[in-house]
Amino acid sequence: MRQAEDELAALREAGLLRQLQPVEEDRPPFLRINDRPVVNFASNDYLGLACDEELMEAAREATTRYGTGAGSSRLISGSLSPHLDLEEHIAEWKGVEAALSFSSGYATAVGSLGALLGKGDVIILDKLCHASLIDGARQSGACLRVYPHNNLQKLERLLADNRAKLPAEARLLVVTESVFSMDGDRAPLVEIVELTERHGALLLLDEAHAVGVLGPTGQGLAEELGLQGRITFQMGTLGKAVGSAGGYLAAERRWIDLLLNKARPFVYSTAPPPAQVAASSCGLRVIASPRGRNLRERLWSNISTFSKLRGTEARSAIAPLIFGENEPALQAARSLLGAGYLAPAVRFPTVPRGSARLRITLSAAHEEEQVRSLHKNLLTLS
Ligand SMILES: *Cc1c(COP(=O)(O)O)cnc(C)c1O
Repeated sequence: MRQAEDELAALREAGLLRQLQPVEEDRPPFLRINDRPVVNFASNDYLGLACDEELMEAAREATTRYGTGAGSSRLISGSLSPHLDLEEHIAEWKGVEAALSFSSGYATAVGSLGALLGKGDVIILDKLCHASLIDGARQSGACLRVYPHNNLQKLERLLADNRAKLPAEARLLVVTESVFSMDGDRAPLVEIVELTERHGALLLLDEAHAVGVLGPTGQGLAEELGLQGRITFQMGTLGKAVGSAGGYLAAERRWIDLLLNKARPFVYSTAPPPAQVAASSCGLRVIASPRGRNLRERLWSNISTFSKLRGTEARSAIAPLIFGENEPALQAARSLLGAGYLAPAVRFPTVPRGSARLRITLSAAHEEEQVRSLHKNLLTLS
């Protein structure tokens, strides 16, 4: 039998061993680590809402009224008013008929793809899609096709080939992120929407890193480009800029009805706690409000400060610094932490082999001075 120690030793040898970093306190933009404050450039809490007084109050109020646990799955007795409010709000916000919420973005991806697709269907994914989308695609039993990152020619070829081969009742689904989680670049969404429409395919868009960051009311890239009515499935997480936890999929009512019957992580799991759900609704409302617009402006001011200093394009809140090998990326993360900045080294299998990087994320909670001094520290690394 294989011993766990041997596997761990092999991971360590390859520079791929992962360990937990204990955090003693979270006060955006600071964390307390080893009893010292460090500036957090690692979080996806892009607007600083995870420790916002308004969201915390919404969570406390929901706990007082509904308790700490939902007590059962959504289909038994766990569909409490906060869950229904959240879904109604998401549907209205996204301008679609309905929405379904899940306990995480991961559960949303796996549950939705597993319910929407089966044997005989085809799913076409961007090569850099998040693990949750890949896992969902694999578990669905559909035939999986991958196109090189943002490569429209290859996507078009896959669409045309599969459309020609597939029987009429089979589903053909394209999946992409709007802002890619480890690179921070954007999908060519106008072209992807046109291609899927031309070839009669469905489209699932994961806005995990675009909600709160892009679009006039912070809904994401589809809103920024005016494409919302043309995307079959709008998916996102409530655990990043929204400042809480959970995930959602917004679509026409018939699709949502199908999901709530068939999505296994929805059907067979206890409904998320009322506090989490109420905080999510509150976070979404803040994002769409004038205060949300202010936070978005602060975030973008930090993004443009940092990208000017680095001489890169300002595309999203995610700025990767590619090292290639694991050890230099780990060393860079260690020396930054020593200087009081947390930016994690991201390695295989989260990113392709040979593209280990520091993944720096900016937030509305950062002061311009903190962004500038992070940049100064980065210069001393290379
Ligand atoms: C983080 C992430 C998810 C998963 O969301 P969680 O709420 O953290 O489970 C899904 N898709 C993408 C693109 C992500 O970055």
